[in-house]
Amino acid sequence: MDKMKRLSNGIEMPRLGLGVWRVEEQDARNSVRWAIEAGYQLIDTAAIYKNEKGVGEGIRQSGIQREKLFVTTKLWNADQGYDSAHQAFNDSLERLGLETVDLYLIHWPVKGKFKDSWRAMEEIYESGRAKAIGVSNFQKHHIEELLTTAKIKPMVNQIELHPTLTQVDLRNYLAKENIAVEAWSPLGQGKILQHPTLIELGKKHQKSAAQVIIRWHLQSDIIVIPKSVHEERIQENFDVFDFTLSEDEMALIDGLNINERLGADPDNFDF
Ligand code: NDP
Repeated sequence: MDKMKRLSNGIEMPRLGLGVWRVEEQDARNSVRWAIEAGYQLIDTAAIYKNEKGVGEGIRQSGIQREKLFVTTKLWNADQGYDSAHQAFNDSLERLGLETVDLYLIHWPVKGKFKDSWRAMEEIYESGRAKAIGVSNFQKHHIEELLTTAKIKPMVNQIELHPTLTQVDLRNYLAKENIAVEAWSPLGQGKILQHPTLIELGKKHQKSAAQVIIRWHLQSDIIVIPKSVHEERIQENFDVFDFTLSEDEMALIDGLNINERLGADPDNFDF
């Protein structure tokens, strides 16, 4: 399997990365360094995670060349709007200690604001300081609304997606629009790792349930960013390129869907 996915603008994005939501600054530094040592090239943070500084320190401590790494951060809701988005982006770069990010995302579709935010994102993209831009938690109708004024189509939509929330309709729409799908909470925040089907499949392949789920995302053409603060788990989650789930096994995991959201509903959030 190709470890990189080509986005609609030609940029290559790693298909598997590390997420750092609910990771303290100090832990973010270590997790990022361990991940890079294990071969990860994609790191997913956000202004609201309050660990961009730690992420930047982890990157520098690892000694990796900047161009080998793909760093994503996100525009928080309170900063949405044209001027504030520009300011928030500059602040993120400063905290990260980077001159560019590889992907900048609108974190949530804040009503009445996300189109103005997008105008700023387009300018940031055109300035070269974000190699790609995209959205997160956008439903089909949010994207349709954005596209009424957008000059540039989002390259990525990062959405809640795991075996118990497979989002098939939204994924089909995004595929049609050539917008890459990235899964957040890909392991169901760890809550689905005890599922007997996943454990059974893991035994068959001598892999853990977490590895089976990550492999399912990859084979479904979904970019995936599992989070862990433990070095062994960070390594384990990257050790998924030496086995293949059969079509039947993929279908078995697809069948676990119960449309269960663990996070907020993008049509009804209050933050
Ligand atoms: P995940 O689905 O990645 O699950 C993380 C949980 O699983 C943690 O409790 C972790 O524990 C545990 N875990 C990880 N690997 C293993 C393993 N191999 N074996 C056993 N347990 C394991 O949850 P997240 O919600 O963190 O989602 C991933 C990333 O997605 C976030 O970190 C963030 O970057 C992004 N995200 C984006 C959102 C958005 O609105 N755009 C919203 C939510 C998340 P431990 O750390 O203790 O190892």
